[in-house]
Amino acid sequence: MNRESCLAADRNDPLAPFRDEFLLPDCVLYFDGNSLGPRPVGALERATTVVADEWGSGLIRSWNDADWFSLPSRLGDKMSHLIGGGDGETVVTDTTTLNIFKTLAAALGIAEKRDPARRVILSERDNFPTDLYITEGLIEFVDRGYELRLIDSPADLAGALGPEVAVVLLSHVNYRTGAMFDLAASTRDIHDAGALVIWDLAHSVGAVPVDLVGADADFAVGCTYKYLNGGPGAPAFLWVHARHHDDFRQPLSGWWGHARPFAMEPSYEPHAGIQRFLCGTQPVVSLSLVECGLDIALRADPVDVRRKSLELSDLFIALVEERCSRHPLTLITPRDPAARGSHVSFRHPEGYAVMQALIARGLIGDYREPEVLRFGITPLYLGHTDVWDAVEILRDVLDSEAWDSPAFRNRAAVT
Ligand SMILES: *Cc1c(COP(=O)(O)O)cnc(C)c1O
Repeated sequence: MNRESCLAADRNDPLAPFRDEFLLPDCVLYFDGNSLGPRPVGALERATTVVADEWGSGLIRSWNDADWFSLPSRLGDKMSHLIGGGDGETVVTDTTTLNIFKTLAAALGIAEKRDPARRVILSERDNFPTDLYITEGLIEFVDRGYELRLIDSPADLAGALGPEVAVVLLSHVNYRTGAMFDLAASTRDIHDAGALVIWDLAHSVGAVPVDLVGADADFAVGCTYKYLNGGPGAPAFLWVHARHHDDFRQPLSGWWGHARPFAMEPSYEPHAGIQRFLCGTQPVVSLSLVECGLDIALRADPVDVRRKSLELSDLFIALVEERCSRHPLTLITPRDPAARGSHVSFRHPEGYAVMQALIARGLIGDYREPEVLRFGITPLYLGHTDVWDAVEILRDVLDSEAWDSPAFRNRAAVT
């Protein structure tokens, strides 16, 4: 493999035209689209339309005329196509953190009706912290003797399932290592043990194929600002299998989830189906921009996306191990393609400083505790040559020890 063969591979890449759909500054190699996707070119025009026309001229009439009111479910139906859900099963709303709270409360309600003795919520110690924190908060708030139990690795899941487990909350792809659960097989194990499952798809959606109905999952949540390029802080999504739609209440019973929101009745009655997961007035500007990234993702063939993601990841791993072999880098992402998502992580004892030095050279990835250099592989706007160039920057920063400077050891508020 050399730079010429990378250029040749890029010329034959069916996804190459998607690069023009994104605004990426010159002199930047962007390997952080798993954390904040770049701006779709069309987002600026969409923002101008929403702010200048729909808000500016339309004013309050736009709730109807621009169809603002139905945005959560219209975008939800588009999202459903990406995750193997059906129409009316998904809404785009709130944050992933809040959606975990709502779905976990709903799932516990269903589990309790089936078998009140089950009191364990099972998750993974290495799950994204907010998933664990919000679970702790819910347990304390409902105060009904629930317990959060944590497994230490995906291999421990089957052994940890038992008659005391009510709900299992897992991230499909691990935010740090990129390790991926087999969604269908794990869902089957969880159901066989009599529990319900909530999948957090934050690091999956837009990057790896997901088929929630095919896997017969119960609930799912996820972000739109990562691989779906919805914009900083863009609203998240929430999916519920149709069999649960009218089966439960969720505790954040706001007026947008009421059966008749504009009847202004004094008491809550949940809307039929997924709508009951809406709480209050939605962030219309952010929500509108989500559609730009979603529409791009829907045009890409998911088979091509997965194939290229694995191709680029394999290339990245091979080049780093070959060209940076005398440096203390340890791959923490599974080598088995079936067991990883779309980012690649290496540990390095000076990981933080190394990443700051890479960013100063235009290679943007990110750093995660402990010592982890994380590189997002995003097939819609990265190619083989980008991977080659990124590894050359990494090699140079390590060979020259350019990272060994006080300026690169300073921790910013966001790492
Ligand atoms: C990024 C991420 C989140 C983020 O949640 P927010 O509410 O958007 O801050 C949650 N869970 C996982 C697994 C993530 O990777």
